[in-house]
Amino acid sequence: MIAQPIDDIHHYGRRLAAALSILPGDKRILEKNRKNIKQFLEYIRAEGLSIPRQVRYVYVLRKISNLLGKEFYRTTKPDMITIVSEHRLRIKTCLRCQESNSPTNSFCSRCRPPLDMRTAMQLHEEESKTHSVMDDLLEDPEVKEVLLSKLKAMAR
Ligand SMILES: [Zn+2]
Repeated sequence: MIAQPIDDIHHYGRRLAAALSILPGDKRILEKNRKNIKQFLEYIRAEGLSIPRQVRYVYVLRKISNLLGKEFYRTTKPDMITIVSEHRLRIKTCLRCQESNSPTNSFCSRCRPPLDMRTAMQLHEEESKTHSVMDDLLEDPEVKEVLLSKLKAMAR
């Protein structure tokens, strides 16, 4: 599998834009924390961190800010320990590559397989639906004829 197709980069670019656009409107985020998040993002962007990571950091920092209900610079170590243990319960860890994914992710942001059974089941259902559509089509005499003539033409 290709590590990061162009489409994915655009996809993450949109997700980053979406994550950032929530920042100013999220009333739960304290003004100072909002500023800190933006500064931090500028810093990691300058450091060349990938867009998926930027998206994740925005998500995690917003989450931490909301869980804390406190300004980042006033945060104590015990505060962080509480937050991290609580956050860890909600994070979805990919079974294949151990990547930490945000709870809103259905697919691993790194290696792509579904993160939970529900998504996997949905995919499976979609797949079997496609198969039965193909079966129905092949039962159709007209489709069969077209296919056969196509195959004959190709064999020539
Ligand atoms: Zn993974």
